[in-house]
Amino acid sequence: TAELIDGVQMSLAVRAEVAQRTAALRAAGIQPGLAVLLVGEDSASHVYVRKKVKACEEVGVRSILEQHDASISEEALLARVKAFNQDEAIHGILVQLPLPAHIDPQTVIKAISPAKDVDGFHIVNAGALLTGTEGFSPCTPTGCMRMLDAIGYELRGKHAVVLGRSNIVGKPMAIMLLSRGATVTICHRATPDIGVVTRQADIVVAAAGKARLLRGDMIKPGAVIIDVGMNRTEAGLCGDVDFESAKAVAGWITPVPGGVGPMTIAMLLANTVTSAEQIALVQKSSTQVPAS
Ligand code: NAD
Repeated sequence: TAELIDGVQMSLAVRAEVAQRTAALRAAGIQPGLAVLLVGEDSASHVYVRKKVKACEEVGVRSILEQHDASISEEALLARVKAFNQDEAIHGILVQLPLPAHIDPQTVIKAISPAKDVDGFHIVNAGALLTGTEGFSPCTPTGCMRMLDAIGYELRGKHAVVLGRSNIVGKPMAIMLLSRGATVTICHRATPDIGVVTRQADIVVAAAGKARLLRGDMIKPGAVIIDVGMNRTEAGLCGDVDFESAKAVAGWITPVPGGVGPMTIAMLLANTVTSAEQIALVQKSSTQVPAS
């Protein structure tokens, strides 16, 4: 049976690193700050945001949680984003998705300064990832890559299959795997038979949002299975992978909960501290210009 990839344990290691970097920044007089904008009453969003805010506290990152009624206008929300863009105490801005139907998420994401876009959703950062340029990468796929690195998995020459093509998980995940030398196939809603594809995969990242979509009989023996799915079912939280049947066939597997979720939050903290470090560096160099 498969070895478990323990996201909780791995996230603690990332958090410890982040806490050290935060301490160094604070010693230099910089307090990293994250602004979280939460709109409406989506219960899953409230749970995620609470976890993010708590995680910030635990590593010494200051967080501001700003909650708005679902009726807030797009203009008013954009004004709040712009205020945080200007706020020197804020290094990361996160707008929790989904937003109410009358607000266009792309418009809001575009309003975030790319330098503070710690979710990595801004088109500038998406373009940076696509072209292999420095920028913020989305937390969930970055967390998946960290897990593969932690088990020492060599991607070069492997066949990686991604289930899902969203802008926040599937697409950036595929780009990251590709840039590490994997041959990548992306399956999505219109793929007629995903099993035909997944049975050829050395690694599958499942991010389709469909409970137990990937079963053991669709997995090549020894494959690495990364389960991004977080589906609320009557039986509780459930991934996109049918854990029991998959575990019997796979070589490595992430559990849900306790897999990708904690790593996602850890990467958000890491991005926020990176942003604070970069902004501090810019401030330092601009104050060091010698007077002529
Ligand atoms: P989404 O709904 O935006 O995208 C789902 C994608 O899956 C689409 O591209 C769709 O074409 C594809 N898809 C749907 N049904 C499919 C099927 N039967 N076979 C193959 N592909 C199919 O979702 P998302 O935002 O990308 O999230 C995906 C899942 O990951 C959800 O369960 C979400 O809750 C979870 N998620 C978890 C984390 C985390 O931190 N663990 C973070 C983000 C999202």
